[in-house]
Amino acid sequence: MDEKQLLMIPGPTMVPQSILLAGAGPMINHRGPEFKAALDECTAGLKRVFQTSGDVYILTSSGTGGLEAAVVNMLSPGDLVLSISIGVFGDRFATIAETYGAKVEKLDFPMGSAADPEKIRKRLAEDAKKQIKAVFITQNETSTGVMNDLSKIGPIVGEHGALLLVDGISSLVAMDCQMDKWRLDVVVAGSQKAFMIPPGLSFVAVGERAAAAMKQAKMPRFYFDLAQAQRYLVQGQTPWTPAVPQVFQLREGLRLLEKEGLRNCFARHARFARATREGVKALGLTLLAEESCASNAVTSVRNPEGIDGAAFRKQMREKYGVVLAGGQGVLKDAIFRIGHLGYVGEADIIATLALIGLCLKELGLKVDPAAGASAAIRALGS
Ligand SMILES: *Cc1c(COP(=O)(O)O)cnc(C)c1O
Repeated sequence: MDEKQLLMIPGPTMVPQSILLAGAGPMINHRGPEFKAALDECTAGLKRVFQTSGDVYILTSSGTGGLEAAVVNMLSPGDLVLSISIGVFGDRFATIAETYGAKVEKLDFPMGSAADPEKIRKRLAEDAKKQIKAVFITQNETSTGVMNDLSKIGPIVGEHGALLLVDGISSLVAMDCQMDKWRLDVVVAGSQKAFMIPPGLSFVAVGERAAAAMKQAKMPRFYFDLAQAQRYLVQGQTPWTPAVPQVFQLREGLRLLEKEGLRNCFARHARFARATREGVKALGLTLLAEESCASNAVTSVRNPEGIDGAAFRKQMREKYGVVLAGGQGVLKDAIFRIGHLGYVGEADIIATLALIGLCLKELGLKVDPAAGASAAIRALGS
């Protein structure tokens, strides 16, 4: 197979040509006027994506760095955190807080399910003394392909008064996230997921309540000190040397997004997710996530009986140039995942399902190899 690849994993995702080229310009002074113009345009564009009037900081780090920034700027050692987890990334958020000395209470839900807003309401109602300082949640759990309903959970946490910190790394752009309306205090995203940009940037949006909490927070921080970021942002700069090419790529990505329209972009992701699920089911395979909360960004599929997941993905990659993701953590050998976020079109969805069918048949599964693609086409046309 030549180097042509369909990268159908939940990040890094495929990058449009115009975004690739936007990162190929000559280097410039990161404290000069061209960079200021780009940073200002990116910050304004990100505010529209996060649907917030708060501050948005562009950090040079992977998404996890953005999560770390959220933790250390909002909390003090000893603070009690209620960490809601439905998978690997929810657990990681909690681990960061523990690393910096927070007391973390976990509220876990089974893998494949979403967090139950009523259980969250119940736990917060028991906290009469308001000891819980912050609640952590993942909007889209990439390891299982499940979305949490933040339009319900945000107001519940808001009523209690704790800060709500959201890992939106694989959700922003792929699904609606109304930060201000849903009372989300801090939302973190990353460049290499639905934003269609190479890895290297994270985005941390800070609402009004969170900006006030930041002044009281005592966890140690230096590189990720958002007060520093704020002082520089007003001058159109970042405190440390940023990943300059990625900022230009972000500007181009945001322009493409404005052209498509945010609502149209969410609808496209929902439509492709539905077509993918219909295709998977038509091949006789089993979805991990309950369909009521199945992700618009990534679909998790149980490896069929008798098929070795790693061998299947190897054949998909080497013979057909389609790259799928395996499972993470305890799901490592149990599932494979199809990413359908970012720069993905109908052709990619149909081809992926067709080649999954063909490959599984070659590996000995009794299946109509065209059934998945047919069902996906029907779903796309309906
Ligand atoms: C990808 C991802 C992360 C981690 O991001 P990195 O860029 O690898 O640090 C965290 N949370 C979620 C939900 C993700 O999808």
